[in-house]
Amino acid sequence: MWAFDNSYYRHMDGFHVPTRPDVPPEPRLIRINRPLASEMGLSLDGLDNGQLAALFSGEMIPEGAEPLAQAYAGHQFGTFVPQLGDGRAVMLGEIITPDGRRFDMQLKGAGRTPFSRGGDGKAALGPVLREYLVSEAMAALGVPTTRALAATLTGETILRDRPLTGAVLCRIAASHIRVGTFQYFIARGDTDRLRQLSDHVIARHYPALVETAAPYEALLEAVVEAQAALVARWMGLGFVHGVMNTDNMTVSGETIDYGPCAFLDAYAGQAKFSSIDQNGRYAFGAQPHMALWNLTRLAECLLPLIDADEEAAIARVTAILNRFPERFNWHWLAVMRAKTGLFEEREGDLALMQGLFAVMEGQGVDFTCFFRTLASDLAGEEQARDQFMDPTAFDPWRVQWAARMATEEGRVAERITLMNATNPRIIPRNHNVEAALEAAYAGDFTPFEALLEAVTHPFDTRPEWENYATPPDDGGAGYVTFCGT
Ligand code: AMP
Ligand code: MG
Repeated sequence: MWAFDNSYYRHMDGFHVPTRPDVPPEPRLIRINRPLASEMGLSLDGLDNGQLAALFSGEMIPEGAEPLAQAYAGHQFGTFVPQLGDGRAVMLGEIITPDGRRFDMQLKGAGRTPFSRGGDGKAALGPVLREYLVSEAMAALGVPTTRALAATLTGETILRDRPLTGAVLCRIAASHIRVGTFQYFIARGDTDRLRQLSDHVIARHYPALVETAAPYEALLEAVVEAQAALVARWMGLGFVHGVMNTDNMTVSGETIDYGPCAFLDAYAGQAKFSSIDQNGRYAFGAQPHMALWNLTRLAECLLPLIDADEEAAIARVTAILNRFPERFNWHWLAVMRAKTGLFEEREGDLALMQGLFAVMEGQGVDFTCFFRTLASDLAGEEQARDQFMDPTAFDPWRVQWAARMATEEGRVAERITLMNATNPRIIPRNHNVEAALEAAYAGDFTPFEALLEAVTHPFDTRPEWENYATPPDDGGAGYVTFCGT
């Protein structure tokens, strides 16, 4: 029925354990992402909601699927854990799209696996809908990300700090291979499997590198580039991932594992939301640095493949890692230029953009609203300036910005168009997400559906979406997210 081609199952012996998802007592479809299904070439013709619920909850295994749980390790908040693995996720298999791309299809919250340790392998409704909302918003914003294909209720109550409605998310990813997947094998001294994994990743995600002279260095370089680009996109949207452990960083460069993530309301460089991130390891402004930290862990895994002489291998990966700041800044400046209506590169752009965030700090400026209204500044309005507690704090930067614009061609109308296509009006704001999840727990999915529709049209204006574009009264102060997925 669907075009499964399960390369990980077939060729990657020792990287996974065949595992069947639990059969949920009473699956019910919450939401199916039909445009995504169609992009994936998954025909849903003739399937009613009951059959869809069965297929996307684990009750029924689609023909051609070969379910498994993947092995991986990871640094969690800096501490190495040699065995993590899919503890509450079962991969159904890989789908080949009509245009020949390969994607994993995974059920998150499908029950215990050999990697579950003490956990129940289940997911609560709130985190499932949260991942659905945020990952689909990210996709609509053009950020590389795993996607949400379907959400189902299991008919089960699961126990967290209180009893909660159980649910399953079916997600799609270019792959679920993480930095932590490499770490699983380096921890076991299994160089053969590290090479096999690297070759698999190169063939799957970076096929242009297959023929290069030094493929494992090239692989590291490619992942460095993909992550520099990804984190730059996060930084341009005020996105805080919240738990950038090495097991939550893909080698494909897609955002993955939307646990305690959040978008900034009021800008603060060190904003953090996760209850478990006591020291701000994964605070907003720390993300580029933590990406490099994770990439350094990946580099360590690749050392034995790069050169038998460890000193020589270290020198070669260090040269690659040292380029991360420059590559990140390059991507970040591209994002920031578009956000501020600039078309060309100029020498002082890094200082100009850093200067903007320096003046925004402590001013209670809503990240999304500020950038969205900045275009109106070009039409002589003061909406952006007025968001500063002390609007005069913005003025010196505004003068620099105007001078910078004067150094390049470009009509005001073109700048405004660029800015409005780059700076979203609507993001999944924390208070709106929480309200939607709370209603869903009470059995009302209308707010979830309405918010999903809005956040997947982030640049549009509709009168009924005004409340989604409005910051919370308190600027989001004190908002805390929890990992309990
Ligand atoms: P994450 O928070 O998604 O980064 O998960 C960290 C690790 O804990 C992964 O190995 C998960 O599979 C595992 N895990 C998280 N929640 C559960 C659960 N409810 N049951 C079993 N394993 C879990
Ligand atoms: Mg994870």
